[in-house]
Amino acid sequence: MTVNARSRVGLGFDIHRLGRGRKLVLGGLEIECNVGLVGHSDGDVVLHAVTDAVLGACGMGDIGDHFPSSDPRWEGASSRVFLDAALDMADKAGFDFVNCDTIIVAERPHLGAWKEGIRSSLAGILGLGVDRVCVKAKTSEGLGHVGEGRAIEAHAVVMLRKRASTKKARKPAKRAAKKSR
Ligand code: MG
Repeated sequence: MTVNARSRVGLGFDIHRLGRGRKLVLGGLEIECNVGLVGHSDGDVVLHAVTDAVLGACGMGDIGDHFPSSDPRWEGASSRVFLDAALDMADKAGFDFVNCDTIIVAERPHLGAWKEGIRSSLAGILGLGVDRVCVKAKTSEGLGHVGEGRAIEAHAVVMLRKRASTKKARKPAKRAAKKSR
């Protein structure tokens, strides 16, 4: 079997409770709603799931490892901060972004009218064309915490691709130097 180690898949998941007196932000887009997601940061489950997926694809742990909720710096922070940092880490480790697929599960508000806006917002944050980003919105059929309208959850998968190593390009030069001795 041939292994293509340059392609890396990452998986992310998150869930936050809904509460009054909070803004509802999904994929970096503020959505009109009388409830919002409760969290140490802005509670953006979509960006948290995508951040975890990016870190997972790079083998760099999870969002809690890098941005613990016990750290007062992240209180009320925009979750863009976390995703931007994860993207920067991935870039420094030599990865390019290929695509991102997400599912948001929410009973309320109904996200059908918002999902294209969330998609555009997420694509903008990732620096990708919208054709490489998908946002699917589902309900939980009335089941569980999400189905009862008490929480929203998000799932994300990302594909990254490692850039060709510059190390390989340097090897022939070293061998040539040895031969000339
Ligand atoms: Mg979270």
